[in-house]
Amino acid sequence: MKRILVTGGAGFIGSHLCERLLKEGNEVISLDNYFTGEKRNIVHLMKNPFFEVIRHDVTMPYFIEVDQIYNLACPASPIHYQYNPIKTVKTSVMGAINMLGLAKRIKATILQASTSEVYGDPKVHPQPESYWGNVNPIGSRACYDEGKRCAETLFINYHTQNNVKIKIVRIFNTYGPRMHPNDGRVVSNFIVQALKNKEITIFGDGKQTRSFQYIDDLIEGLVKAMNSKVELTGPINLGNPREFTILELAKKILKLTGSNSKLTFHPLPDDDPVQRKPDISLAIKELKWKPNIALEQGLIKTIEYFKKRVSI
Ligand code: NAD
Ligand code: UDP
Repeated sequence: MKRILVTGGAGFIGSHLCERLLKEGNEVISLDNYFTGEKRNIVHLMKNPFFEVIRHDVTMPYFIEVDQIYNLACPASPIHYQYNPIKTVKTSVMGAINMLGLAKRIKATILQASTSEVYGDPKVHPQPESYWGNVNPIGSRACYDEGKRCAETLFINYHTQNNVKIKIVRIFNTYGPRMHPNDGRVVSNFIVQALKNKEITIFGDGKQTRSFQYIDDLIEGLVKAMNSKVELTGPINLGNPREFTILELAKKILKLTGSNSKLTFHPLPDDDPVQRKPDISLAIKELKWKPNIALEQGLIKTIEYFKKRVSI
């Protein structure tokens, strides 16, 4: 049994991770300030005596004795991370400094939830970990992208300078139950709109692409990355390489929900990446990991969740 801290533990990914780590027989502590996360995501875990819940902001130091730290705290959807961009930078950068300082002091292994956004609007396709990216440092996504890039820098430097055991994973678009219905991300938006027979809001012409990974595949990858050999620090991509246009996604969701919603077209947000698809050769080779859940299969489970969650 390990004692494991999950920052952002009440969020979409964090709550699934806490659940998985508890199932494996670990003692798990969720640390969250509930900016975008919700207690309802973890309430079912609270009866487990090996689960603890802490309300705390990662921009402030926190001291605890654990074996492993998963650092997930950070708003992840564009509308939420752009709501208070300075706070988003602080969360990524000061959160990383505080959690790395803790890991150094207690000799814990620490994993950083980085993102495909470090590749920005990529000029290399698909994106391997060796690609340095194409990020606008003063654009509307910069608070998130540059915050996450700086966090990666901090992780590498704590590792080389202070021997902290680190893992950096770059997560590509992930979806599934417990996404917030109003968080503005494309999968949750389209499903909620389709279930309510409201207009489906396509930004731009819908020809931009994303590669969607189901939450269970990601959780498996996160746990494998954390427990991989010490030398494997990453960065390492975790994503589903099957690429879809946003229009294709909308049509799939309409079909699976049997909705009458009409497609409507709206301006593309600034710096919205044109294409995104992970090169996962490194994860396949080093972690023996690859995603197994096809988009349609994952969407069916996600639609079931939103049917119960959203009053239609
Ligand atoms: P989420 O918004 O559901 O979860 C983030 C959690 O962090 C929330 O519970 C929120 O309350 C908490 N949080 C935010 N700021 C905090 C702070 N200052 N102190 C303490 N807690 C704070 O988003 P998610 O999709 O679960 O993302 C989790 C992590 O994975 C994030 O770091 C995100 O950048 C990364 N990621 C997610 C995706 C994706 O597709 N979901 C893709 C790439 C990277
Ligand atoms: N998008 C869209 N309609 C929506 C929400 C998003 O067309 O209602 C588009 C968005 O412009 C982007 C893609 O879907 O091109 C993925 O958006 P999301 O916010 O989910 O993730 P990210 O852009 O961070 O990859």
